[in-house]
Amino acid sequence: LAEQRVAVDDLLANPLWRADDVALAAPRDIYGTLQGQIRPNSKGMDMTYANERNPVTAAALALRVPTLAESRPEEVDPLLRTLHAAQPRWDMVPVERRAEIMTNAADLLESRREALLALLLREAHKTLGDAVAELREAVDFCRYYAIQATALMRPETLPGPTGETNTLRLRGRGAFVCISPWNFPLAIFAGQVVAALVTGNSVAAKPAEQTVAIARAFVELLWEAGVPRDVVALVPGPGETVGAALVNHPLTTGVVFTGSTGVARHIYRSLAAKEGPIVPLIAETGGINAMIVDSTALVEQVVDAVIASAFRSAGQRCSALRLLCVQEEVVEEVLAMLGGAMQELTIGPAVDYATDVPPVIDAEAQAALLAQIARLEQGGARLLMRTAWPAEMQAMALTGSTEAGLVLQDDQRRDLHFVAPCIYAIDRIAQAREEIFGPVLQAVTWKADRLDALMDDLNALGFGLTIGVQTRIDGRAAHIAARSRCGNVYVNRNMIGAVVGLQPFGGEGLSGTGPKAGGPHYLLSMVAEQTVTINT
Ligand code: GLU
Repeated sequence: LAEQRVAVDDLLANPLWRADDVALAAPRDIYGTLQGQIRPNSKGMDMTYANERNPVTAAALALRVPTLAESRPEEVDPLLRTLHAAQPRWDMVPVERRAEIMTNAADLLESRREALLALLLREAHKTLGDAVAELREAVDFCRYYAIQATALMRPETLPGPTGETNTLRLRGRGAFVCISPWNFPLAIFAGQVVAALVTGNSVAAKPAEQTVAIARAFVELLWEAGVPRDVVALVPGPGETVGAALVNHPLTTGVVFTGSTGVARHIYRSLAAKEGPIVPLIAETGGINAMIVDSTALVEQVVDAVIASAFRSAGQRCSALRLLCVQEEVVEEVLAMLGGAMQELTIGPAVDYATDVPPVIDAEAQAALLAQIARLEQGGARLLMRTAWPAEMQAMALTGSTEAGLVLQDDQRRDLHFVAPCIYAIDRIAQAREEIFGPVLQAVTWKADRLDALMDDLNALGFGLTIGVQTRIDGRAAHIAARSRCGNVYVNRNMIGAVVGLQPFGGEGLSGTGPKAGGPHYLLSMVAEQTVTINT
């Protein structure tokens, strides 16, 4: 065991950026807390924390994101052996103590606010507003799952006949593998890992390759909060090699994955084929998310919701709006106002506080999006509107930039890859075949007597993550919600930024397995149940 521990320490001891290097004094109470009760504090685009009074300082922003070493697939075996060996001790730690550690982690997240925000801006190209919302979501996950686990994992004595006692208790399943995406490199990473840890599992956490430094900062913070070093490990590396080795390892007893539907299917197949225990998969994947706008909708509200849902975060959320369905009678009015709003969007580097639409994550993402736009056009989709590049961006653009995509270098000579927000008209819902993970919206009209047919067409796409409804007819919103196969229904508002504890998040069908993240049933999928019957 000692040797294995050394192997793990070696694996984790790369010379890395530490959160403390750029951490600056930060008021503790700035996020509000959940302390003692479920009172989540994140709510959409609240810029209260992202103004002149609380800017991310220049020192934090000057941070350079380090290049971190990758794990090698052959390191996975000793690592999982260590995690497997350490788990029973961790599982015996009282749940109250594990919950306390997660609450410590929440406190540390808050106290390292500036460094973490700067890292989200620099490494993940988050706008300040998005970074603040993400940090608060990570804090909420820590506090919420701590509260949930404490309530859930109390042993329960069940009524039984005289002469017998029956007790049901929950415990960790073993070693979990958590595989998380780059689009919420702190919140989703933390949510998965904290949920598995607080329920008594050990965790191998594989972050997306694009956002390893943020993940590293959080794992260090967990150690500091009190999680033993052999209970959680960061395992950076490519999904095809390191991710596959983790999933296929016989000592892996659970997998949590957020990413594409294709990769989720691939993991399912691997788990079914591997040796060892039968392993559950919790997968949260994509969506072709629609917003249904009827003729009674408030147009200003529609435009506001569309801009936030389709273009904020450069459309890189699995909850984002992809398919705008507008009733014929109001389509001209909606599109006219939307066109105006799109020209007001500020495209720019994430480190500029004025930016509404940041770059997409990397060159590969930009190339994929531009190829999808080209496919849309070949398939007969018509460009309705596209946000124009600001003049100074155009002047600085590197060669190869077009109206749809532009590349420029930032102050640290890193290439930033932009995709201009755009809307394409399509004739039928079935034309929207693939998720387009960027600021690209498709629009379709519907006739007043065809609402149910529209719902059938949307359900037939097979995805079921988010849906927006804009109407002033109450019964209609309820009707659409009942008919929709989507996990999150948003009426008369935007359809992003689900709040932990208030809007449990996750879908069905091609969008994932459930249970919903940030909801009361999530932890149940991470535990084993044991009934002890004693003849007294
Ligand atoms: N939970 C996020 C939201 O509600 C989306 C998560 C994701 O993109 O994976 O916007």
